[in-house]
Amino acid sequence: MIKRETIEKKITEYPIFEYAFFDPAEINFRQAVRTICQIECPQYGKSWSCPPAVGTVEECENRCTSYDHAFIFSTISEVSDILDMDEMLSTRGEHIQIVEEIKDNVFGEHGDKLILTAESCALCDDCAYPDGACRHADKMYPCVESHAISVTDICEKHQLSFMNGYNVITWFGMILF
Ligand code: SF4
Repeated sequence: MIKRETIEKKITEYPIFEYAFFDPAEINFRQAVRTICQIECPQYGKSWSCPPAVGTVEECENRCTSYDHAFIFSTISEVSDILDMDEMLSTRGEHIQIVEEIKDNVFGEHGDKLILTAESCALCDDCAYPDGACRHADKMYPCVESHAISVTDICEKHQLSFMNGYNVITWFGMILF
């Protein structure tokens, strides 16, 4: 089991804004978060990284709480216009690259871990869901909300900021291990 001090030392090599450790048992899995996915997100039912493909709220809860530890971290990106969705989403790639590096270089010794990030997976131009299997299951990270988890809940509990200024995007990644 990787020690917290080791993670804290290694994480300084990456442009992380804030981070926190917590017990997955603390997470409130909310049906309301799932309902928002269903009603408001255009990606609902269109990706292996989103509901309903990720499973029921109960299945997501069981998956997350099967791990002993959770690590959440944020990165920030500045854009010229926060209302420009394309520009906003274009900064997600930098965040995912950092997630990939942390996965390999900080948590590499943990074979079994669950990684949740932000927004729907965008690795393929056209997601294989639902007709074929995910093409990159080892690099496909569902978003935190897909697992009925409210990031703001966790931020409030652990004094992480999710609003960091106008035209600043705060991206979150979560690793359960
Ligand atoms: S890797 Fe491709 S097939 Fe898998 S969830 Fe992402 S977009 Fe869909």
